[in-house]
Amino acid sequence: MSGFVEQTGCFGGLFRKARRTRYPTHDTASTQKSGDISAVDTRVHHDEKCCYFNLTCDYSSCQESERWHLLEDPPSPTCSKAESDTEVPDQGILELVENTLNQLSPELRDISMKIHANPELMFEEKYAHDLLTDYISRQGFKVTKHYLGLATAWRAEYQHGKGGRVVGINSEMDALAGMGHACGHNLIAISGVAVAIAVKATMEACNIPGKVILLGTPAEESGGGKVTLIKRGGYKEMDVCLMCHPAPGRPHSISVASTLAMQQIEVEFFGRTAHAGAAPWEGTNALDAAFIAYSSISVLRQQMKPDCRVHGIVLGRNWSANVIPDYSKMIWIARAPTFADLAPLVERVKNCLHASALATSCKVDLNVGPAYYELNQNEVLGQAFVDILRDRYGMPQTNVASSASTDFGNVTFEIPALHPVYAIPTEPQGGNHTPAFAKAAATLEAHRATMTVSNGLALTALRVLSDPLFFHQVKAAFSKSQLANNRVS
Ligand SMILES: [Zn+2]
Ligand SMILES: [Zn+2]
Repeated sequence: MSGFVEQTGCFGGLFRKARRTRYPTHDTASTQKSGDISAVDTRVHHDEKCCYFNLTCDYSSCQESERWHLLEDPPSPTCSKAESDTEVPDQGILELVENTLNQLSPELRDISMKIHANPELMFEEKYAHDLLTDYISRQGFKVTKHYLGLATAWRAEYQHGKGGRVVGINSEMDALAGMGHACGHNLIAISGVAVAIAVKATMEACNIPGKVILLGTPAEESGGGKVTLIKRGGYKEMDVCLMCHPAPGRPHSISVASTLAMQQIEVEFFGRTAHAGAAPWEGTNALDAAFIAYSSISVLRQQMKPDCRVHGIVLGRNWSANVIPDYSKMIWIARAPTFADLAPLVERVKNCLHASALATSCKVDLNVGPAYYELNQNEVLGQAFVDILRDRYGMPQTNVASSASTDFGNVTFEIPALHPVYAIPTEPQGGNHTPAFAKAAATLEAHRATMTVSNGLALTALRVLSDPLFFHQVKAAFSKSQLANNRVS
């Protein structure tokens, strides 16, 4: 790979071969004082190749003995020697990005905690929308609120010079019912802001032409906000898009593994009420339909591949034990390693739902939501990010497979994109979508990890903007993946 750059600004070349450049020693004292940069543990280095269908693969985030101890001092970022064939950023760029984020860190921590204290469900992220757009507009970005007809979506844009490439970044904002920010989207929200501001500062200082677009993307947990934004052209202008997500894991580790494709199916059963004791034969039992559907799908699970998932809930209204229920609703989610694998599974789930309606003489109404694709992680962006996080910050890569899903998967099939997952300290059995994870997402250690990962994303974005050969390789990897996934004719 070449360190050539299209233009030169205040630094002659932004990325160089590691054999020519050693990482500078990080100023540990000032870092610890500011509390901004997450220190890292260089003792563990896992590079496991994990894939679905590999039943020997460890799907747990880490062993209990490897868990992060909240009271341990974070190890310092090291000047670990970069591997010989990796490209490393210029020291000036590193310091510019890190200093920018060091300065921002207390404000971003404040924003993160405010969002954490005001959790909002999908498409209702009004508080986060207003807080984030106010802040980013004060940082010199051109802001569009309520972007593309979505009340809580937003866009912040900064253009430097003329032409150049366009880097996209995403900030998620939504929480989960009853447990707040149990997926840590408060951290994702500030990471997007951090990356955008660090990239802007470097574009200005180094005279790098191009554009950075930060999208505030609502409704990731459900509702597919990014799917709507894709349909409405929200990603059209971007050359690449980056974001990150917290999860449990080995201390100070990152992963650029994939996730499962996902489809939500809402089903309503309509029956007729009757007195459950006096005249049950006059009723049509919608709750029975839900129970039969639940049983049928539970039986279906035995015939599913082990890397697929189907899970759901039952909802009702005006239910009493002495009335035959005339209405029930179920929300099902089916997941499979790829979108292609998902389609036949969804058909089998639908068959179970129709069959239960038939068995109970209920009317049935199916509403199939937007599909979330699996993550098609861009391998060139991924390698660049992994190299930086390993060599500069000592954060090892663990390719632990995740059977979760994200609407960012759809973005990764539109344009070259990257969605690394990074570890934050969690309690045993306190992973995403538990109250314990909501607590973890508020810790200072989680904030530090977020800021470190944001450094890596900003440096990856700057490489896209400044290194044409690198961008060519990113695009080539994307085209190759599209062909492999039959996404192009
Ligand atoms: Zn999430
Ligand atoms: Zn989640």
